[in-house]
Amino acid sequence: MTPPDSAAPRTAFFSESLLPTRHGEFRVRVYRDQLSGTEPSAIVAGDVRGQDGVPVRVHSECFTGEVLGSLKCDCREQLEFALELVQRHGRGVVIYLRQEGRGIGLGNKIAAYALQEEGLDTVDANRALGLPDDGREYGAAADILRDLGVRSVRVLTNNPAKLEQLRALEVPVVGRMPVLVPSSPHSRGYLQAKRRRMGHMIAESGDEPAVLGVPVATATVAAAE
Ligand SMILES: [Zn+2]
Repeated sequence: MTPPDSAAPRTAFFSESLLPTRHGEFRVRVYRDQLSGTEPSAIVAGDVRGQDGVPVRVHSECFTGEVLGSLKCDCREQLEFALELVQRHGRGVVIYLRQEGRGIGLGNKIAAYALQEEGLDTVDANRALGLPDDGREYGAAADILRDLGVRSVRVLTNNPAKLEQLRALEVPVVGRMPVLVPSSPHSRGYLQAKRRRMGHMIAESGDEPAVLGVPVATATVAAAE
């Protein structure tokens, strides 16, 4: 791997287009990350440059959950919640990082699933394979937020460690917004069916104003990440 030029950010803008989606229209900006060799992207709603307190979700790829509809995790629900929230809010960013399986990659993730079939939990399965509990890192996200010219962010996350890592990368975090998706397999399947068959959204109508209106410091965590 060629070491990145120390004067240039490791993550360089590559292309951009408008993209209509079932959640509304977004601007999709694709970047090239020299360190990981991946293409992280920013899915942008509204005008975020120079803005304070912009809702931002830093989301890590989940092929099994987001593409295959796996019920072993709630990544897809969290992603859709974030896309809908930033659209309804009028501005915001979902940064999509290509780090499957908390950073261990798809092959290792499936190997860990095989160990989970034998009774290990997610942490013990990773450790049995000699892998970290959580190998994700957010340097590309920090670069992308700087490129977008966002002045400060409110992070959509239920994960305090992610907040700390973003702050350590000098991302100006002014608050946190919880990601309100149900976490039990039973309720998840039920809500997915409601959305698929009846057009319901994952966030209940009573939750939405609370998420958008409650000061972030007092917001509660509704689901483990
Ligand atoms: Zn997942």
